Amino acid sequence: MTRNCFVLVATLAVVAPGLSTRSVTAQDLALSGAAILNPADESMRHGVLLIENGTVSRVAEAVPPDFPGETLDLAGKFIIPALADMHSHTFGNMSPAGMPQLLGPPGTANAALYTGVAFVLDLFSPEEMILSFRDRQRAEGGQGAQIFAAGPCFTATNGHCSEYGIPTRIVNTPEEARREVADLAAAGPDVVKVVYDHQSYGGRTFPTIDLPTLTAVLETAREHGLRAIVHVGTWQDIRDAALAGASAVTHTPGPDPPPPDLVEILLHAGTIHIPTLAVQSEFARMLDDPALLDDPLLVETVPAALLDAYRTDASANPQLEGWLAFQRTLMEPNLAAVGALAAAGVPMLTGTDGGNFGVFQGYSVHRELELLVDAGLSSWAALRAATTEAARFLDRRWGVEPGDEATLLVLDASPVDAVANTKRVHAVIQAGVVVDREALRSWR
Ligand SMILES: [Zn+2]
Repeated sequence: MTRNCFVLVATLAVVAPGLSTRSVTAQDLALSGAAILNPADESMRHGVLLIENGTVSRVAEAVPPDFPGETLDLAGKFIIPALADMHSHTFGNMSPAGMPQLLGPPGTANAALYTGVAFVLDLFSPEEMILSFRDRQRAEGGQGAQIFAAGPCFTATNGHCSEYGIPTRIVNTPEEARREVADLAAAGPDVVKVVYDHQSYGGRTFPTIDLPTLTAVLETAREHGLRAIVHVGTWQDIRDAALAGASAVTHTPGPDPPPPDLVEILLHAGTIHIPTLAVQSEFARMLDDPALLDDPLLVETVPAALLDAYRTDASANPQLEGWLAFQRTLMEPNLAAVGALAAAGVPMLTGTDGGNFGVFQGYSVHRELELLVDAGLSSWAALRAATTEAARFLDRRWGVEPGDEATLLVLDASPVDAVANTKRVHAVIQAGVVVDREALRSWR
């Protein structure tokens, strides 16, 4: 941090001891000297980004003499909109040693924001718990990333999502689907999550809902003004989901490549892809290359004992062998498939599937960005998937344009030159307030 930045954080701590970052009144701030990047139009501007009442007001050539707020000297830095994780489960982080790191939504929100991920979409947690947490956070503020939530996961009897012992909503017929989605809609979820999955995972298959039931889920969600995200396993699942009106599909099938007609179907339907490359490959990658566990931002974010479990226990757990073999089979074909879909113009969003093996809350969004670039996306396209496209999906505005909520990430190096530079977090700004990142570390 620059001296100015440090002083500001120290001032906030004095003014508002013990208060959460978002309950500090939104600031007027002038961000001076940095390159200002907008992934939406791939623009890079130089100037002073002025923030008033938590909202970007304009980019000026210099700090206006009557500007009421603080000025941060960010010479040599890079400003981008803060990142979003569009597929997570906020209970915590899995460990190959057994006991997971239980963070819950508050700890996950803190861990995410520490890494510059200011928006997290939870796609299945205990319904009442996650929706009431979200409501409380929205009403009262509170530390950490803003949580958005699907609530339950719509699935068949004994279908995927039902295996965790967490109550969810079971739908086996179109009638049940209409009734249950309408009932959930009254609780105000941000999206609807549904499983339609004919894939076999390391020899394990689950029952799944039929196409009429999927169609009824999607139609009822639309009637209630809700976007629906479909967990898919095969290319045919994606085809069915897109034709039935899914807003987005999540996960990437393989090892066969996407069928030739799929791009046209996705583009025509306007269906977005949330590939989740990290959850589909990182566990195996870590075993092959333990240096992945030494990344400085990861080491700051996750307890050493949990990372050690990935170094020592991962290959010793026979229950995980099938899953690892599945990852090795899919790794390269998944990259090729995502590259082909992105090159054809299919819009993408970053999602980690946090709460599963090999991914970590917040941090793994940065890895997903790197994997998207490995798949062939440009740095700009990957950044769009984590920022401006995510904002559009959530019906929110945050970023660097006038009128945007000033929720931003300040980086020490250009994420366009190398997308891995999103990990070089200099500061996180949430609605115009410089986040006290150290105060967020209490989750550990
Ligand atoms: Zn998931």
